[in-house]
Amino acid sequence: MSYLSHLECPRCGEEHSADKPINLCQCGGPLLARYDLKRLTQKLSPADLRGRVATMWRYREFLPVEDGQEPVTLGEGCTPTFPLNELGKRWGMSDLMLKDEGLCPTGTFKARGASAGITRAKALGIATVAMPTAGNAGGAWSAYGARARMEVIIAMPADAPEMAKTECIAYGAKTFLVDGLISDAGKMIAAGAKEHGWFEVSTLKEPYRIEGKKTMGLEIAEDSGWRDLPDVVIYPTGGGVGIIGIWKALAELEEVGWISGKKPKMVAVQSDGCAPIVEAFEAGRRDSDFWEGAHTLAGGIRVPKALGDFLVLDAIRESGGTALTVSDEEIVAAHAELAEVEGALICPEGAAAAAAAKKLREDGFIAAGDRVLILNTGSGLKYPEMTEVNLEVLPKGGRLPV
Ligand SMILES: *Cc1c(COP(=O)(O)O)cnc(C)c1O
Ligand SMILES: [Zn+2]
Repeated sequence: MSYLSHLECPRCGEEHSADKPINLCQCGGPLLARYDLKRLTQKLSPADLRGRVATMWRYREFLPVEDGQEPVTLGEGCTPTFPLNELGKRWGMSDLMLKDEGLCPTGTFKARGASAGITRAKALGIATVAMPTAGNAGGAWSAYGARARMEVIIAMPADAPEMAKTECIAYGAKTFLVDGLISDAGKMIAAGAKEHGWFEVSTLKEPYRIEGKKTMGLEIAEDSGWRDLPDVVIYPTGGGVGIIGIWKALAELEEVGWISGKKPKMVAVQSDGCAPIVEAFEAGRRDSDFWEGAHTLAGGIRVPKALGDFLVLDAIRESGGTALTVSDEEIVAAHAELAEVEGALICPEGAAAAAAAKKLREDGFIAAGDRVLILNTGSGLKYPEMTEVNLEVLPKGGRLPV
């Protein structure tokens, strides 16, 4: 049974039908999917999940999928969480954990959003989706679009990572490079969508990507036995879809009575070269200003203005969390340390979250015994440039100079 009931604008409260393609509310707000959680409560309990597929679609009642519809899936979700014991010892935390989204198809958690978004687009009969991207979203939507036999149009800055271009082309997306920023690519996509009738799926202009990323929150709760949730969840925040999604998931689980009591403090991590949400948090505001001259080596969190900034700020404040910045140097150091002492090759954004854990312990926001969960949003294998490789070639037949 599908429990999706309608879409709601969190800015003005207006309700919209979920049965036809829609981007934003007329007030400009992003739309959130709402479900018939009363009916769901009566029909489903955590025990029903036992034995289901180990993908995010094990939570299909909480997702925008039609009765009897096969989701468009590549096995995304149900990523591992493991303890960082050595790092915890070094940084003074006895219960430090990492959830590794690098194991998702296409190497990042963008796969979750794409799986949900493309599944819904398919049900609504959409033939072509179009988006600007800085990297990982393009790869993920191209992959799921290919699987759904849907046309995908991608525009990205000419200086986007080579891997992003490679992925989109390999998956058969119509890929365009733009001499400009992602915002410039976004304007060209919007114009093309108007002209050609493509459905725009850029971040939060499409309501279902959040639903996919929400499943991280469902997994965090299920992995905790629906009881011992982390005290702190640390998330590298760009558009903020993940943090909004995790917080939404926890609210829905509370509403159906699957979890109760204290929820995790949500922490948004940004770079000191692009920190609109941190700035708004510190200023006590609910909206962020456009961040001029955004720069950081962590491209996933280089987002100068997020459409859902107010939802991120709400989640941080409601949860008693915080927002902070880290520098590129701290990102590089955390990236190296996780690989060397934990065997975890993570993405720069994940390294930003790890660096933030260290800082929050130092300034006392995190207590020594807190259960702390770092989200690593992508695989380090997509970022070979993070590690300097500078090896001398030895003549064969000689001795290794160890
Ligand atoms: C997109 C991206 C982010 C930021 O995600 P949001 O949910 O939009 O804040 C973080 N890390 C990686 C690797 C990404 O690709
Ligand atoms: Zn509205």
